Amino acid sequence: MTSEDTFKKIIAHCKEYGFIFPSSEIYDGLGAVYDYGQAGVELKNNIKKYWWDAMILLHDNIVGIDSAIFMHPTVWKASGHVDAFNDPLIDNKDSKKRYRADVLLEEHIRKIEDKLSKEVGKAAKRFGDAFDEKKFLDTNQRALEYRQQAGHIRDRMNDALQRDDFDALRQLIIDCEIACPVSGTRNWTEVRQFNLMFATEMGSTADGALKVYLRPETAQGIFVNYLNVQKTGRMKIPFGIAQIGKAFRNEIVARQFIFRMREFEQMEMQFFVPPGTELQWYEKWKEKRMNWHKALQLGDEKYRFHQHEKLAHYANAASDIEFAFPFGFKELEGIHSRTDFDLSQHQKYSGKKIRYFDPEHNESYTPFVIETSIGLDRMFLSIISNAYTEETLTKEDGSADERVVMRIPPALAPVKLAVLPLVKKDGLPEKAVEIKNRLKFEFNCQYDEKDSIGKRYRRQDAIGTPYCITVDHQTLDNDTVTVRHRDTMKQERVKTGQLPEIIAGKVSLKSLLEKLG
Ligand code: ATP
Repeated sequence: MTSEDTFKKIIAHCKEYGFIFPSSEIYDGLGAVYDYGQAGVELKNNIKKYWWDAMILLHDNIVGIDSAIFMHPTVWKASGHVDAFNDPLIDNKDSKKRYRADVLLEEHIRKIEDKLSKEVGKAAKRFGDAFDEKKFLDTNQRALEYRQQAGHIRDRMNDALQRDDFDALRQLIIDCEIACPVSGTRNWTEVRQFNLMFATEMGSTADGALKVYLRPETAQGIFVNYLNVQKTGRMKIPFGIAQIGKAFRNEIVARQFIFRMREFEQMEMQFFVPPGTELQWYEKWKEKRMNWHKALQLGDEKYRFHQHEKLAHYANAASDIEFAFPFGFKELEGIHSRTDFDLSQHQKYSGKKIRYFDPEHNESYTPFVIETSIGLDRMFLSIISNAYTEETLTKEDGSADERVVMRIPPALAPVKLAVLPLVKKDGLPEKAVEIKNRLKFEFNCQYDEKDSIGKRYRRQDAIGTPYCITVDHQTLDNDTVTVRHRDTMKQERVKTGQLPEIIAGKVSLKSLLEKLG
């Protein structure tokens, strides 16, 4: 099965089991906008809580806010978004399809790199244990050609982007002989800039309505509240402000399910530090954020850093944490050293003094900022795409059976346990409801009595429920139940009184947070 097939199956599974639905589906959906269903919203809330608690509970010097989506339009002038939050777009005249010029080129480069990987794979097979990848890459003629080709295109692209030279960008697309995937032709328009912010109007037109934007990032809500929080919270630098909230971008190429959406959610933390110390803090936050991801135990090899070579005008260092999505390693989170750019800009545009007075050193300065910014939806996608597992099982009679199990980290699982009466009679449902009612205050529980026990187990596997508690006749005699573990399918018999401890041991956020200490 190709990774594309797997990805399609994951999307279908998300819909079938109430994780994610296309927005306004009865009207055929809305491009790159999605709704979270009954299982999805629980998983999403658990991810938020894991992030929020890791920031707020584990750091004395980080506090949270929840700022409005609408902000004064000058905020976006000061931040640079009105003038520079653009993507270069190009249209194919035959298919009328629109593309991001840089994405077309990136995809072209990726194809060359895929060819290179294939060569490496073939050689590794041929030479077996004696294979030296580095030597192969440095000496094999074909490998050298692919590497040179990819590097040359990337250099030309970065150069054109850096200089905003759209003619050069278009020429590169033509030189690479890139064709539209839909029409197959190379009949391209000029490259134009396209601003990604959604705009709307506030107030009635008669009053002279104000053009406002839907925020394209949550960060600016933090910067404009820096003084409020610092003063009212009596915060001493270094300190951080965390926020979770919606952001909106009119993405030109919105594909890959919830990877690139037009309405999405960000979890951002801006950490204010004295000038000159920012690069130490940048390294520290890179490490902390990587640890946060790895604590989920999806596999350390699924993550890697990608350091930005071309920096945004406001940054003096930037890295992404990339995750191995089904369509390759892609950005999951950004860690940026944003200098004092944002606060200085807001000081300039608002005319208000935005500085920090350090009483110990008796000096005042504009703080520097380290930002950690992660897309909640991308985080969600990393969890579910990693969790989706198809298994072939052997039944007791020797025949084969299949199950799809979502191996979601138990602390994030939408439902923590299901209580299932073995049969729908003899007082078992009543007993099961009683047990569920005892546990529901602490855990998200489900009660299910419909269909065979096997089918009920499968339904819980499909949403990633870590535990199934089965109530049978023996329960009525000695107050014991069987506990079935999702991943191993092993069952053990325990006293009902032991349930809270057994379940909490695996599903509580506490144990995850303790790892981060
Ligand atoms: P990309 O290069 O993929 O467009 P970006 O570098 O523009 O992303 P940032 O502005 O750094 O992204 O935003 C921080 C985080 O927000 C990203 O790491 C990503 O997880 C998330 N994010 C950004 N754009 C989107 C989107 N359109 N849909 C979903 N998540 C997004």
